[in-house]
Amino acid sequence: MSHAPRASPVTTSEAPPARRFEYAPAPESRAVVNIRPSYGLFIDGEFVEPTDGSLFETVNPATEEVLAEVSAAGPGDVDRAVVAATRAQREVWGSMPGKERAKYLFRVARIMQERARELAVLETLDNGKPIRESRDVDVPLAAAHFFYYAGWADKLAYAGLGPAPRPLGVAGQVVPWNFPLLMAAWKLAPALAAGNTCVLKPAETTPLSALLLAEILQQAELPPGVVNILTGAGDTGAALVAHPGVAKVAFTGSTEVGKSIQRSLAGSGKHLTLELGGKAANVVFEDAPLSQAIEGIVNGIFFNQGHVCCAGSRLLVQESVAEQVVEGLKSRLQTLRLGDPLDKNTDLGAINSPQQLEKIRELANSGEDEGAERWSPTCALPDRGYWFPPTVFTGVAPAHRIAREEIFGPVLSVLTFRTPEEAVAKANNTTYGLSAGVWTEKGSRILWMAQQLRAGVVWANTFNRFDPTSPFGGYRESGFGREGGRHGLAAYLDV
Ligand code: NAP
Ligand code: MG
Repeated sequence: MSHAPRASPVTTSEAPPARRFEYAPAPESRAVVNIRPSYGLFIDGEFVEPTDGSLFETVNPATEEVLAEVSAAGPGDVDRAVVAATRAQREVWGSMPGKERAKYLFRVARIMQERARELAVLETLDNGKPIRESRDVDVPLAAAHFFYYAGWADKLAYAGLGPAPRPLGVAGQVVPWNFPLLMAAWKLAPALAAGNTCVLKPAETTPLSALLLAEILQQAELPPGVVNILTGAGDTGAALVAHPGVAKVAFTGSTEVGKSIQRSLAGSGKHLTLELGGKAANVVFEDAPLSQAIEGIVNGIFFNQGHVCCAGSRLLVQESVAEQVVEGLKSRLQTLRLGDPLDKNTDLGAINSPQQLEKIRELANSGEDEGAERWSPTCALPDRGYWFPPTVFTGVAPAHRIAREEIFGPVLSVLTFRTPEEAVAKANNTTYGLSAGVWTEKGSRILWMAQQLRAGVVWANTFNRFDPTSPFGGYRESGFGREGGRHGLAAYLDV
């Protein structure tokens, strides 16, 4: 998987890179996907009208164009979906032999691959992310999760979780807007492999790829009720996690909402996993291959406009090479292309919503107010839509808000250190603990750092690598539970 941005001439600056190449526009066709004007809720294998819900619009954040009208599920709709999922779990899915469940999951994965272009274009339209990322990362990885967990469905007794692990029942799953299809796949694939049925709530601003996935589930002839998809806002999510028929809640989103869900479920006996925010340190030692590290820094924070829970949003660079790294980084950023997400040459797409744009602006302004130095390449932002230029802050102190709070945007805070011990202390100086990166030539230092860093995932000489076989999850305010790999099954089994 490679998603390092390519060179481009869109931005201008005081110190232009030595060679520049002109790119002709290379837009992906939006005609490959058929967006309906209006969508119902996916309950018991059918698209149905909401009974006590309402309608809302979803827009393309790159153009502000309304893409479709979507239903917001009310409490009565949540109840219908949970009832359908309960019946499907008891009567069909929970008692089906694992090797039969596997066939459905393989089929879903294959159809996702067949319809990959549609899924990628739809994801880019609804989310604002570059087509190169949805095409090369989100969609193939989502299919890979279904393939991987299909393989586990008939081998649960060999997963090291006891000889006869049992499904929990109905899983209520709530996902965010930054990787809408991929997060749905992370949730659905292990739950289904383990014999649970699901009610999934996508984020309000990005419901469309989950609704296309519902069509794919119909095409795969998944038995009715095994997966139900309820679009809506936070209220729908809250009603879902509170429903007494839900045995397991899986939530990915902000730490704030995660905490409120944990409070509301206390004493209910429901199983819970939380995948929350992060403020990852990307640590560059002086002996690292610096140009490779610079690519990794760019990928770490500017991939998906920085809307990444495990983004390398704090660069910790050894003082002796700090100037060189920051200079190299700035000259690299001058070549990033920001603009039409459907253009195959685009590196940075749109910010997902005006609310998120406002949050990024507010935190970036606080960086300036608190005394850090702000830098962006000169970069023309489109007139319509929600945009924020790639931004680097130097002179950042550990107490600054931009060093502590998750910005969830294309904004990097640069801090320096002198010794490995200081690097560890600064990297761990956060309430989060989701991911970290280490750049060094020394193998022993990589292992030592990995032991010292309090983060669920530590990447060495790379960043933002994902694979369905590898567990992912956090410590502290980044949540608990693991998704991916054999560990991801544990969250959906009574062992
Ligand atoms: P969010 O506001 O917490 O929303 C996440 C999901 O929860 C959305 O579907 C949201 O619906 C729903 N929701 C809101 N209030 C709820 C409530 N009271 N009860 C139940 N559900 C509720 O998070 P976000 O701002 O959309 O997403 C960004 C956050 O997700 C970041 O902090 C990021 O780090 C985190 N994230 C973590 C991971 C991980 O694996 N650790 C991965 C991706 C993202 P609406 O969208 O309709 O409001
Ligand atoms: Mg949208």
